[in-house]
Amino acid sequence: MRNLLLIFLVNISVVFSQKITVGLYNEHIVKSIDISIQKGSFLFFTDSTLVGAIIVTSNPLRVEATENGLSINCNNQFYTCTSFKIIPDRFSDFFQIKPLKPELKARSYEGELRVELTKKNNLIIKNILELDDYLEGVVESEAGSGQLFEYYKVQSIISRTFALKNWNKHDKDGFNLCDQVHCQAYLHKRNSSKNTIDSAVNATSKIVLTYQDSSYAPTYFHANCGGQISDPEWVWNSSIGGLYTFEDPYCRHTKQATWTKSIPLARWKDYFKKTYDFPIEDSAYFNLLTNFSQVQRMSFFIHPQFGIPLRDLREEFRLKSTYFSVKLIENNVVLTGKGFGHGVGLCQEGAMQMAKLGFTSEEILNFYYPNTTLKRQ
Ligand SMILES: [Zn+2]
Ligand SMILES: [Zn+2]
Repeated sequence: MRNLLLIFLVNISVVFSQKITVGLYNEHIVKSIDISIQKGSFLFFTDSTLVGAIIVTSNPLRVEATENGLSINCNNQFYTCTSFKIIPDRFSDFFQIKPLKPELKARSYEGELRVELTKKNNLIIKNILELDDYLEGVVESEAGSGQLFEYYKVQSIISRTFALKNWNKHDKDGFNLCDQVHCQAYLHKRNSSKNTIDSAVNATSKIVLTYQDSSYAPTYFHANCGGQISDPEWVWNSSIGGLYTFEDPYCRHTKQATWTKSIPLARWKDYFKKTYDFPIEDSAYFNLLTNFSQVQRMSFFIHPQFGIPLRDLREEFRLKSTYFSVKLIENNVVLTGKGFGHGVGLCQEGAMQMAKLGFTSEEILNFYYPNTTLKRQ
């Protein structure tokens, strides 16, 4: 009977609790951090041995990578170990982490913090917490403050779907996802919309976007598509099932709908001459290079036969999008563009506008991810 009860409890915890491990600051080589408690209290452990508790008023706890392993300084008591962790008393407790070497911006997080060493003696910093608590941080980082509840629901569902679809993306690094746009931005800030965000994550808990065969939908998103969603092939040179180009009428008058950029003619010519051996001396070719119009999104500059992908120009000239036209004005090439980002999947500003117009989160998701359905896991 006791065993049965145990199995039952274990099953419940599997169903109701899904923890994610996120790598923090992993794009940097971090050698030293300070940890301070901002709410509640945390137990701290060195190599699985309980050492003590730290609370809001405690001095920051310093963790450094040394030749002999991790060095922990807690109120001038020193410990050496190979792994270190702090565990919160309550789920709402949170701590602040401040990298000192190199000096980086401090951030606050909920959940457990674990620090280990890489083979090269750098810190691996991991935050382990409930999937939905992680999603609150992601939605805040990716959507900012001041959005409608319905939009936050959209962002919660696509971020949850992304996390589950890419669960093993950082297997080799020892965690599930990183905290950067490489995966999803997770820079917990606790802005004024925190309550609305938390409610939206909660209201959509366990809901994901899937295709008919139950596979997770590829929930790519970007800031603004400029009025036309991109085909993934134009951006990454490979198609992604279920995603294709179509017109988006909802984002055309929003914040990042248009942009312009002026580039010195000499720099423009130089790039095409050097990179593509483009015959700039020939006036017909020169005209092509300085008069280019993109009414509908294209994947190549001028004509596919020249083999100049627009995504390469976006990277080279750091453009907001590939959806632009070109004109020559005196000694400058002036680019007039639409949208911001790769343009694949969901257009955030269009989706925010749809929410303002009264569309439900389900309608918004169906518009940007055709042929998908919401599924409760
Ligand atoms: Zn990543
Ligand atoms: Zn759009």
